Amino acid sequence: MTLKDLVRPNIWNLSPYTCARNEFTGEALAWLDANENSRICQYNRYPDPLQLEVKQQLGAYRGVNPENIFFGVGSDECIDIAYRVFCRPGIDNVVAIEPTYGMYQVCADVNDVEYRRVSLNDDFSLDVDAIINACDEKTKIVWICSPNNPTANAFPLEQIKEICSRFNGITIVDEAYIDFSPVGSMVQFLNDYPRMIVMQTFSKAWASAAIRLGISYASTDIINIYNKVKYPYNISELTQQEALKVLADSSHIEAIVKELIDARNALAEKLSTLPDVKHIYPSDANFLLVKVSDADAIYNYLRDEKVIVRNRTRVHKCGECLRLTIGNDTENALLIEKLTEYGNTRK
Ligand SMILES: *Cc1c(COP(=O)(O)O)cnc(C)c1O
Repeated sequence: MTLKDLVRPNIWNLSPYTCARNEFTGEALAWLDANENSRICQYNRYPDPLQLEVKQQLGAYRGVNPENIFFGVGSDECIDIAYRVFCRPGIDNVVAIEPTYGMYQVCADVNDVEYRRVSLNDDFSLDVDAIINACDEKTKIVWICSPNNPTANAFPLEQIKEICSRFNGITIVDEAYIDFSPVGSMVQFLNDYPRMIVMQTFSKAWASAAIRLGISYASTDIINIYNKVKYPYNISELTQQEALKVLADSSHIEAIVKELIDARNALAEKLSTLPDVKHIYPSDANFLLVKVSDADAIYNYLRDEKVIVRNRTRVHKCGECLRLTIGNDTENALLIEKLTEYGNTRK
């Protein structure tokens, strides 16, 4: 399949919105093209529509060319734009693992695209054959979230590569939690798989959920199509400035990620001593999926005590499971205290 076979015809033929800033690079003497108010300074100008400075810094950090990077308003935009570019409403379908991150299905529903689920195995491993078998000639995207939310495990790179090779549509690997994982990123194989898109985000390890900055890495052909479909100024100047600050201090982030992983392992250790905790799934992320004696009762107890966790008990293969984000030391201690208290009220 060529890219042209995979992209919706209206998108392939789209003439994008153009602005004068696309036709001039450098410092002009007078910017009189965009009807801004130049009598007041700070944030009066439209931001760089292609966020080149941020792409250069991120690309240098991740070892990726800036032309292979797209920024969205959170991963949310990176997910939605994939449907809008590749999937014809009412005709095409996508395949995703189950359980996984909820936004893939929400965006499928919004775009009127059939969403096919392929169950993970009981140990939350991937069934590559089942994924390939679920695809037909109308399958445009396979979604692989690794490390997966909510199961917390990363999948072996060999399996992800196998899907990229065997599936002739677009494989999207969502690596929102990759910095917490000992399994490497698929970004290093971008050139080997021209139909693969890798997603990351500033919201998790990079501690910047408020600025709404999601990333897609892909071939320049795919990035160019994304750039003509996105809103021209999707990433605000405030977001770009904050992202540059975060990237300038990447060693600080790396130190915090290490601390978080230690805190995760310490929390798992403490949880394992509590009688109401039945199983703690291995985690390659900044959260723990934990099977407990009675998920609804414990979730309600914690909520009444103002400790908010995620109840996943009604999610496929996650019966009696809570998903616990690793918080700061105070929050983690409070969680253990309240869970211990819950146990004592039952005695
Ligand atoms: C949290 C999360 C994201 C991040 O979404 P943003 O819109 O970038 O904040 C993406 N994918 C998964 C699987 C997540 O759990």
